[in-house]
Amino acid sequence: MLFNIKVFGIVQGVGFRPFISRIADAFFIFGSVANKGSYVEIFAQGTAENLEKFVRAITEKAPPRSAILKIDVTELAAAKSFTDFKIIESEREAGDIFVSPDIAICENCARELFDKNNRRYLHPFINCTACGPRLTILENMPYDRERTSMKDFPMCESCTAEYFNPASRRFDAQPVCCNNCGPTVYILNSHEKNHAAIKKVRKILAAGGIAAIKGIGGFHLACDAKNFAAVQKLRESKIRPSKPFAVMFKDIAAVKAECILTDNQKSFLDSPQKPIILLQKKFNCTIAENVAPAINKIGAMLPYTPLHLLIFNFPDEIKNFPAALVMTSGNPSGVPITIDDEDALKNLECDVIISNDRKILLRADDSVMDFIEDTPSMIRRSRGYAPLPIFYENPLALSPYPLTPTLAIGGELKNTFCLAKNNLLYPSPYIGDVGDLRTVEILKSSISRMMDLLEIAPKVVACDLHPRYQTSKIAAEIAENLNVPLIKIQHHWAHVLSCIAENNFGGEVIGVAFDGTGYGDDGTIWGGEIFICDTKNYRRVGHIAKFVQAGGDKSARESWRSAVAMLKEFSLAKTLNLTEEKNLATQILMMEKNLNCVESTSCGRLFDAVSAVLGICKISSYEGESAMKLQCMAETSTENLSGNFEVDKNLILPTDKLFTEILSRRLNGGNVADLAKFFHVQLAELLAQACEIISLQTKIKTVALSGGCFQNSLLTSLTLEKLKLRGLKVLRHKLIPPNDGGLCLGQALAAKFVNLPKLT
Ligand code: ZN
Ligand code: ZN
Ligand code: FE
Repeated sequence: MLFNIKVFGIVQGVGFRPFISRIADAFFIFGSVANKGSYVEIFAQGTAENLEKFVRAITEKAPPRSAILKIDVTELAAAKSFTDFKIIESEREAGDIFVSPDIAICENCARELFDKNNRRYLHPFINCTACGPRLTILENMPYDRERTSMKDFPMCESCTAEYFNPASRRFDAQPVCCNNCGPTVYILNSHEKNHAAIKKVRKILAAGGIAAIKGIGGFHLACDAKNFAAVQKLRESKIRPSKPFAVMFKDIAAVKAECILTDNQKSFLDSPQKPIILLQKKFNCTIAENVAPAINKIGAMLPYTPLHLLIFNFPDEIKNFPAALVMTSGNPSGVPITIDDEDALKNLECDVIISNDRKILLRADDSVMDFIEDTPSMIRRSRGYAPLPIFYENPLALSPYPLTPTLAIGGELKNTFCLAKNNLLYPSPYIGDVGDLRTVEILKSSISRMMDLLEIAPKVVACDLHPRYQTSKIAAEIAENLNVPLIKIQHHWAHVLSCIAENNFGGEVIGVAFDGTGYGDDGTIWGGEIFICDTKNYRRVGHIAKFVQAGGDKSARESWRSAVAMLKEFSLAKTLNLTEEKNLATQILMMEKNLNCVESTSCGRLFDAVSAVLGICKISSYEGESAMKLQCMAETSTENLSGNFEVDKNLILPTDKLFTEILSRRLNGGNVADLAKFFHVQLAELLAQACEIISLQTKIKTVALSGGCFQNSLLTSLTLEKLKLRGLKVLRHKLIPPNDGGLCLGQALAAKFVNLPKLT
């Protein structure tokens, strides 16, 4: 028998063809494997039984760094008779493009790195087909050394030999290099290079200093995570009073010494993507308290570049090097990560900067992931994941087909954008908060780079409905330059669609968006919405109780403002000591005169208000602090307070009554942690009630959960439990963030089904 097999996905530059050749030998298959640019094509000839095993092995045993999206197997009638199995070079065919994300250093390379007899002993840039930088060093497609930042480093003879040898681990590995031909690490504004540079950084870190380290996608600031004073110094220099810092641990054992780690969490932590994972602190955790103040979790990650490993383990005279280092992007929150030496010198306050001469062409922040019910819940999707596409092909949703080439620009905060074509949606790496001018430039340049890399020329541009978003302006500009239509997608519909896209779902859902703020169809602020929707339409059928949001943009940071807005009696604001009296007076005056006030159903602000009246957090120093601390407090409670709130027939969730109840119990001396938990439980209960009513009315059995509030693992698991109890099927986010970082995906999906206006 003869099969023609096409494998789509990340199958280039990850050792896929040598792998196919090996399993062909194992199952006595003759034929060939060729790289077609957008897919890998295999001709396989053998017995039916062996062919079956062979095809199964392709998916089951695929190289860890590959990502197969689809395999097409066709039996060919005319039997070509092959007499061996060959890897053949072939011409690139037009088609969908898969750009590999950056890949953490693999086990084999890590072993060679510390092997005295290896010619890459202690080489800070060791890599192979299974590991190393990809997206961040890529100039253009197809992925060849000539089109990467490695073009500045011609391969030496030995590396060239490995590069062209199909039996080598470095066959066709574009960034391959060694101590003779690779890039150099150096200390900025000093003479130390290579090993001397690494030793210097180790010495400074071990002594409690702060180092800036150039990694894969940008610079990190690092210090000893167990040294309170060092962490404090880092906080002061970064003007970040309390935002939790991520911690890079030397190895798994070091993680386990400080945090609770499930098997699933371990497999993600140690995966080729090496994301930051939020792990529960152990009771005897020795990480400095100021790394993540008042938060019961630590953002943990493992070393993912050879340089990281060398910094932890370099064989020098320093014996007590820290097993855990704070690793935080060197910039103020929301501002894109620094990638070049000049900016590093300008922006990073530290004792030493270790850089290198391999250029970073595209930024990539570390990805951040929480776990809900022991499955991932992405918070920031970037390095290691972007720009892997989401494959959307649902027969219930496919009209028209295929997808219009689209640019969806995403939201204003935590911006990512998405390019889409055929049935693939490619969310970009994390860009940042577009309110900052520096971010605007980076967003624009990243868009054009990704358009080039993925060879997508958008025929439509999508943006948020909000009239004052910077992203909407940029989108309008791009649409005009490309002479294509601009479409505006309602924020919370885009959230729900992003969940639909991630789950490859077609048909109608009860779409829930519990979120911060977004611009509603009626010009008010939305954010606690329940829709009936699909990929073409949406209808708002329910929401949390309306309140007046006063204080404009300030209310997102200053939780006390939301609390005051929800209080019926202002005298209580004084009793609760929500803020200084003069602030309070101004706020109340604004509300009475209806100045800077807008009607709102933002669930995020509801969390803020509860957090403030419970005295947990009245002013946030970073986005989401107020809600995060409310959740942490709730998780310490073991009480189950009962409540009996009911959703009315208009499907308005009586969150105003819930708020008042919490307030009065608090004033009567109720325990703060118990009330924080009570809030989460009751909110989930109300949401589940509403979904049940809608389901009974409409027969829709599927609920899609999205929006930033579902980053809250307590709210999400309570909601899941209550919806499942009512027999409803739930779609939730796993590898796409529920927050605005995932918005672009929903916008792109919406754009697919829009009837485009005719161009004049
Ligand atoms: Zn490797
Ligand atoms: Zn070399
Ligand atoms: Fe949002």
